[in-house]
Amino acid sequence: LGLSQREFDYLALALQWPGTYCQSTHYCCPSNGCCRPYALTQFTIHGLWPDYDDGTWPACCSSSEFDVKKISSLIPTLEKYWPSLSCSSASLCHGGKGLFWGHEYEKHGTCSYPVIQDEYSYFSKALDLYFKYNITDILSRAGFLATNSETYFVKDIVAALEKAIGTSPQLVCKRGSLQELRICFYKDFTPRDCGILSSVLHSSSLARSSCPKAD
Ligand code: 5GP
Ligand code: 5GP
Ligand code: 5GP
Repeated sequence: LGLSQREFDYLALALQWPGTYCQSTHYCCPSNGCCRPYALTQFTIHGLWPDYDDGTWPACCSSSEFDVKKISSLIPTLEKYWPSLSCSSASLCHGGKGLFWGHEYEKHGTCSYPVIQDEYSYFSKALDLYFKYNITDILSRAGFLATNSETYFVKDIVAALEKAIGTSPQLVCKRGSLQELRICFYKDFTPRDCGILSSVLHSSSLARSSCPKAD
């Protein structure tokens, strides 16, 4: 690890709702964003994030740089379920080779050591959890459909997830719409509640994140 950061307490699988993310940014990339020939009507992966119980989190925990070759077998799946919805490439840590995946790995993935030991495991574990706890599916079974003609109460969405998974998620709303949904796990990957903070965060109260220098 080579850094003074202490080991994290739990993991959050952060999912994004493409309709809200694309609406608020207006970013549209022809082949790699929201201007697709089809609409994305499922939660996609934002990242798998190590967190501390006090509401803070480590970031950029090692000098190891993202290497796309290490995950070549996962790319078709990642393109489908972990797409970048933004045109701007991320630049924290080592730059992530300009890829959303690289950014997430360098910023968060490197801090999931020793529970997750390498880059391939980081992405395959995130995909495993994403498929095991199929949030889009859980919500649609409970009557929460991807539609513009209905609005839903956040407390009902939280209750549906609590019923299906047994633990409390964390929701992030932007301008009145659900943008992110996080489900949390102990280090053995069994579900747990997401943190001590309020289960519904509003974007205005979420600060921008910055990385400590990795040296
Ligand atoms: P985080 O917010 O996880 O630190 O990183 C998000 C960074 O990745 C931002 O710099 C953003 O521009 C870039 N990015 C690329 N694609 C996406 C995406 O689909 N969703 C989000 N939230 N950020 C993305
Ligand atoms: P700022 O002064 O930049 O608003 O606040 C510090 C930044 O660090 C915030 O953007 C916030 O998102 C981020 N932040 C808050 N807690 C933590 C943490 O525990 N670790 C890291 N890396 N960033 C944090
Ligand atoms: P935002 O301010 O856009 O919600 O968050 C900016 C970035 O800070 C996120 O993309 C993510 O990288 C990081 N971040 C925000 N909240 C959390 C959190 O609760 N845990 C962790 N590990 N990272 C977070």
